[in-house]
Amino acid sequence: MRGGRALDPAQRLADDATGGPPEAAALALRCTMVDTPVALVTGASRGIGRAISIELARAGYAVLVNYNTNLDAAEETRGEVEKVGGTAEICPADISQAAHRDSLLDFTLETFGRIDLLVNNAGIAPPRRLDVLETTEENFDRVLDTNLKGPFFLTQRVAQIFINELEEQKIARAAVINISSISAYAASVNRAEYCISKAGLSMLTAVFALRLAEYGIPVYEIRPGIIETDMIEKVRGRYERQVSNGLTPIRRLGRPEDVGRAVAAIARGYFPFSTGEVFNVDGGFHLRAL
Ligand code: NAP
Repeated sequence: MRGGRALDPAQRLADDATGGPPEAAALALRCTMVDTPVALVTGASRGIGRAISIELARAGYAVLVNYNTNLDAAEETRGEVEKVGGTAEICPADISQAAHRDSLLDFTLETFGRIDLLVNNAGIAPPRRLDVLETTEENFDRVLDTNLKGPFFLTQRVAQIFINELEEQKIARAAVINISSISAYAASVNRAEYCISKAGLSMLTAVFALRLAEYGIPVYEIRPGIIETDMIEKVRGRYERQVSNGLTPIRRLGRPEDVGRAVAAIARGYFPFSTGEVFNVDGGFHLRAL
């Protein structure tokens, strides 16, 4: 852990109860209060979240790299961000847990002094791929807590931070970008929980887009198709065959940077008259043909 800055959220909570650790005070003094905008990217240690972090760094954002358990991978993301000339800090937090979300936001504000962009990217496939007639409540709760409840309440809290920051003219603009999936509308009978969580994330986008429009805070949704990451490793062979047989008009799997670049394009602020908008990054999967 470089510089001891990726504090354990549980430890941070315990520290907060006792008035905060000396480290936290030092952190507050050391923190960079950057002039550049700051993006909080959840699940940024690997895959799509890592690519988003790199592309946001290229777009001029300092990045808070959140991860769940994989510190080494998070450090690699930080290294990749620094290679393109960017700044990144890392923080573990399980976004399905309220106390961890609070701690993640505290850490971000203590470290950078501001948040300008929230990217709700962290997500999981069902721990067990089970038929909808057999899946368990445990499976359902794990997926829904991570993919939907976490982003919902994180967005709620970050929206309040954005509103204050904008009122105080601490930041020029703010936005939320949600990484959903083609599974928001394409039903899979062996991972119903995942599809339901992503359909919910689409409605989350719509509801927050409506609510935050009066404050000038747009909320966008990116719907990736099949992207080459750890998440699809177990079914990659089948997906490759389906794609080469014409599942998608663009006959290749997506790459994490396909999504990263889409996020960066939106984050640059080029869509100020759009909110609640859905961007398909799916090789054309959503097109119907006759
Ligand atoms: P991935 O390679 O499996 O990476 C998942 C990332 O999420 C990791 O950084 C992981 O952290 C983090 N994470 C998992 N649970 C977390 C939690 N409870 N709290 C905080 N972070 C957590 O997945 P990916 O393919 O990049 O997927 C990223 C997003 O894109 C997900 O929302 C996924 O549903 C969506 N998506 C993916 C595809 C695809 O084909 N790959 C398609 C459509 C949508 P650790 O490294 O610490 O485990």
